Amino acid sequence: MISVAIDGPAGAGKSSIAKLAAAELGYIYIDTGALYRSIGLFCINQSLDIHDKNAVVSALDKMEINIIFNDQEQRVILNDKDVSDEIRTEEVSRTASVVSAIPEVRAFLLSLQRGFAEKNNVIMDGRDIGTVVLPQAQVKIFLTASPEERAARRTKQLEEKGITADYNQILKDIIERDYNDSHRETAPLKPASDSVIVDTTNLSFEQSVAQITELIKESAE
Ligand code: C5P
Repeated sequence: MISVAIDGPAGAGKSSIAKLAAAELGYIYIDTGALYRSIGLFCINQSLDIHDKNAVVSALDKMEINIIFNDQEQRVILNDKDVSDEIRTEEVSRTASVVSAIPEVRAFLLSLQRGFAEKNNVIMDGRDIGTVVLPQAQVKIFLTASPEERAARRTKQLEEKGITADYNQILKDIIERDYNDSHRETAPLKPASDSVIVDTTNLSFEQSVAQITELIKESAE
């Protein structure tokens, strides 16, 4: 089996790029952020204090999280409910970033993530795929872009969906999430020592997909 790990900060384009590259190569694409987001959503729905580690850890017993594929598109199932759309809010992003720092939360999701890579050729995106989840991955890519460029892309994406977006607030959220993700003790966001760093600040989406697909073809063969 071939595993491709794509890690990087929020908004670097990991999921849209990985999705297309996976379709072209015939691999399964797994967005691991969706798993942390589902835990975040559960905490919000239960009005849990996410800064109370014990409360979050005890709640893990009440969560069953699964990934299914619908026409090759990943759907996340939380306690028998498809939450794939609900987890895309900024509130869920912030909550996921806080709960993902808890080691028990990370351990809870580990076997689910590894299970997919055991049985399929996968492109998995996240923050710690190359460093912790799949350290044996044949291809490791660290995808990044400047915070300003990432905030501008996110603002445009939201506006295209007809959602009012505040660039400065989005930039602030991105910087805060980057800080949380890269400064936590367990599995912080950082490039694996054997990863290739790809900076997409000055690349178009098409150029980024082409570069990533090429890298995977070169390294996986
Ligand atoms: O990738 P996405 O923005 O959906 O991830 C949401 C949050 O989940 C991230 O900010 C990060 O805190 C956490 N996450 C993580 N490890 C992963 C994927 C996501 O800690 N492998």
